[in-house]
Amino acid sequence: MSGFLTEDEIAALNPSELLPHSTPIPTQIVSSDEFTPPPQSEKQKEVEARLLAMADEFGARQGQSRRQFFQSAAGMAAAFVALNETFSAVFDASRAEASTPAMADERAKGLKDQFIMDMHTHFLRDDTRLTNFVRAREAVGKAGWNPQLVDKPQTLEDLKFNNFFKEIYLDSDTKVALISSSPSEEPQDWFLTNEQMIEARDKINKDAGSRRMFAHAIFTPGQDGWLEHLEGSLARKPESIKGYTVGDNTNKDLARHPWRMDDEKVTYKAYELAVKHGIKNICVHKGLFPESTAKRFPHLLEYAKVGDVGKAAKDWPQLNFVIYHAGYRWAAGGRAGDGWNEFEQTGRVSWVSDLAEIPEKYGVTNVYADVGQLFAQSVVAEPRLAAAMMGIMGRGMGYERVVWGTDAVWTGSPQWQIEALRRLEISEDMQKKYGFKPLGAADGPIKNMIFAGTNAKLYDFDIPSQRGDIGPNRDRFALMKEEYEKSGPARSNLRYGYVTGPVDWSAFA
Ligand SMILES: [Zn+2]
Repeated sequence: MSGFLTEDEIAALNPSELLPHSTPIPTQIVSSDEFTPPPQSEKQKEVEARLLAMADEFGARQGQSRRQFFQSAAGMAAAFVALNETFSAVFDASRAEASTPAMADERAKGLKDQFIMDMHTHFLRDDTRLTNFVRAREAVGKAGWNPQLVDKPQTLEDLKFNNFFKEIYLDSDTKVALISSSPSEEPQDWFLTNEQMIEARDKINKDAGSRRMFAHAIFTPGQDGWLEHLEGSLARKPESIKGYTVGDNTNKDLARHPWRMDDEKVTYKAYELAVKHGIKNICVHKGLFPESTAKRFPHLLEYAKVGDVGKAAKDWPQLNFVIYHAGYRWAAGGRAGDGWNEFEQTGRVSWVSDLAEIPEKYGVTNVYADVGQLFAQSVVAEPRLAAAMMGIMGRGMGYERVVWGTDAVWTGSPQWQIEALRRLEISEDMQKKYGFKPLGAADGPIKNMIFAGTNAKLYDFDIPSQRGDIGPNRDRFALMKEEYEKSGPARSNLRYGYVTGPVDWSAFA
């Protein structure tokens, strides 16, 4: 932490009642390396101007202030219209929707029962000291990615169970979530212990009266007693296991036990145990390792890449390997712009393209790509990059192996990400030039597969008979959400506070 903003620095930022703080989309880039945000790019200024014009024209017609307009479904549509007009991106959003509240509300209502399984979520234990995630949420609010974070000063409480529950199950259309964690050499810095994940799962499902949460157990190859620890955790019946090949992602300076997925002597022992306990899915964190991080931790770089995925997948056809973040490199201190430049110059994105080539190279069909952070960090900051990465994964692995995960609640309630995928399409130019397949309608077969279909298959969840949000098994959460919606979104009137410290995006998990 390098200190607090001086009066001058505060004065140089826009006052919080003005843009960019109240817009539903990004108008500034967040960087971990600079104390104050870098100046807006020309594109971002353009997005902002277009949005303001729409707020003044469409919102005023409804008697709404800019802020009220930006908080409405029509305001959300306007954000995607502004992105379309600026980036020549292809979001399904029209000026008609942005200017007609009834039309925007109707659309949101029509999609709210879409089944969404988010198999990559987090909250932090009560005694956590990982305040960097508070800074991250503030930065996301500041960048305008998630309109729900805009007005709220963030605290550690926002990263704990109660707020997690609200942001996942009440503020978003997510129906089922998997709670994950991240290990550390420092026991106190595990996001959650394996026991805490299982306890949270059991509590949620008991409270709901149906299966709303799944849980990971974390495995840490090479650490003292790791295999016994895993075996003990497996006895509590997590739905899958997850590991971090860099060893300690939270405190990279402490990482002494990085490991490879294809290490026959060490890691394969975990796969053996998993098979023995009926676990089918091995989740592995990859990527989020930009040049700035590689410079600081060069010995971990190889482990962050996906070079060890293919052999492991080939040797263990009875297991599925779900690669978290799809190996996307340019987050956690990198920028979507770096990824876009790389794609424009080479037609590739590190290390998403490498991952997408594994099925062909190794003749395997058991490798999956989770879109956590990959999607959040690109889709509103550089939408063409988000489209390109979806295309790359779809082309190489098939859209049936791209699975929904949002890494919420690091970037707040996942609803804005859900809305972005619903609306995203790959432009025809890009489809033709690179052989990408279109994503189709918000609730068409491909997006339904990404949002839930494949996750349901991986986890043997029969959606029609097991879903608790509608139908014969309607559970207590469904009733709670109905009440919540009736009383309107629980918005805070507190003003957004300025970011008071640099964001350590490198700890993103
Ligand atoms: Zn994560």
